[in-house]
Amino acid sequence: MRQLLAACLLVPGTFLAFPLPLDARVDPAVKAGAVAGIENQKDDLIRLSDEIWSFAETALRETRSARTLADYAEKNGFSVQRGVAGMPTAFVASYGVGRPIIGILGEYDALPGISQKAQPTKEPLVAGAAGHGCGHNLFGTASLGASVAIKNLIAAGKLKGTIRFYGTPAEEAVGGKVYMAREGLFKDLDVCLAWHPDEDTEAGTDSSQALVDFIVEFKGKTAHAAYDPWNGRSAVHGVEAFVNGVNMLRENVKPSVRIHYTIVKGGDVPNVVPDYAKVWCWVRDSTRSGVEQVLERVRRIADGAALIAGVESKMTIQAGDYETLVNLRGQKLLYANLEWLGPVPFTGEEQEFAKAMQRVVGAEPKGLDGSVQPLKAPMADPPGGSTDVGDVSWVVPTLQFVVTTAPKDVPWHAWPVVACSGMSIGHKGMLYAAKVLAATTVDLFEDPETLTAIQAEFREKTKGVVYRPFIPDGPPPVPKP
Ligand SMILES: [Zn+2]
Repeated sequence: MRQLLAACLLVPGTFLAFPLPLDARVDPAVKAGAVAGIENQKDDLIRLSDEIWSFAETALRETRSARTLADYAEKNGFSVQRGVAGMPTAFVASYGVGRPIIGILGEYDALPGISQKAQPTKEPLVAGAAGHGCGHNLFGTASLGASVAIKNLIAAGKLKGTIRFYGTPAEEAVGGKVYMAREGLFKDLDVCLAWHPDEDTEAGTDSSQALVDFIVEFKGKTAHAAYDPWNGRSAVHGVEAFVNGVNMLRENVKPSVRIHYTIVKGGDVPNVVPDYAKVWCWVRDSTRSGVEQVLERVRRIADGAALIAGVESKMTIQAGDYETLVNLRGQKLLYANLEWLGPVPFTGEEQEFAKAMQRVVGAEPKGLDGSVQPLKAPMADPPGGSTDVGDVSWVVPTLQFVVTTAPKDVPWHAWPVVACSGMSIGHKGMLYAAKVLAATTVDLFEDPETLTAIQAEFREKTKGVVYRPFIPDGPPPVPKP
């Protein structure tokens, strides 16, 4: 596998020079048409992205953002199913008939408390409001723009098949895609595509971490903390014993495991023995089975903590993600298209904006790196982080890449990314990502051999695997308006 990937590293250059057999089978004029289809929508896409950026709606509250994208899809001839999988802000937009059926994922949720103006110094747009600190306004818009470009080629008789855009809410919270996967919304796809804003432009081959999100509640008995404390049983002691146990557990788990928690409820006042306490905990590992093993040990720690404190404990799973199943054949196809398009063309002015921002956060003023990173061999234990794209990747072959939309070494889920996602740096990355998605989709429509190879790799890697989403039965936790 390593040798196969190394061979790819030796073939930079334009797409037409790329020696994979796929380009011979795909009409370059159709691919050029897909790219032109993004340029034609440029003003619309920038407007949509800026609107969603200014709405800055958080998980499962993305009402206006979802509507803006769904309306644009409908206006462009897609049939749109809104409010799918029990989430008012989830939707599926479809165009065309028959196979292949190619899906493109889009996100649009913001993060609370990080509102920021589109400038290189920290200043909230609306104090205390949410902001697009992960660039999901760009993510959703680029993916829909690519879907529309493909739709136009189908309508013009240049491509045959079905294009489907998935409006997937709440990536930053419960993971809308997990509910959509449980509903079976992805299962008839031939291939699914996704991208994400980043500080690099790359068709990565590293997986993401599997994750489980759960709460542990302790119920004790209240009493006066001085008059008759012997009649009380402190739920907070349950929490203390639990987190001590979890922190000891860290010493005897694999280095790939991450455990993090917050104490959500730990009593009210010192002179009352607290009868209720609650911990919110996440466990991650490089695989779903690794997460399950640690979770069972944590479950026993909760039982033990309850025993120590003389209280009751209850563990409730809230959400979780699978690790991403990387499809190497698919990533090679994405890489070929990144190479074909070349670097993201940032201007001198954008580089100056980036450098100013890097100076503010104390990073080296290197500016933006829009170059296409080489295709690398996958790491055994990827760096930390999880995504609900992981769940989709176990249901259908899923290809994803990242595009530069922010300077190197600035913090994510923070103001610098909000700023870049609302100005020309983000726009440029977004339009580039849309072109990669559209061009790759053309390949998937026009090159059945590559499509078959991608699907064969998926079948091989998922042999014997039964997809079981890590979410409780029942509807998603949609907040009341
Ligand atoms: Zn994100």
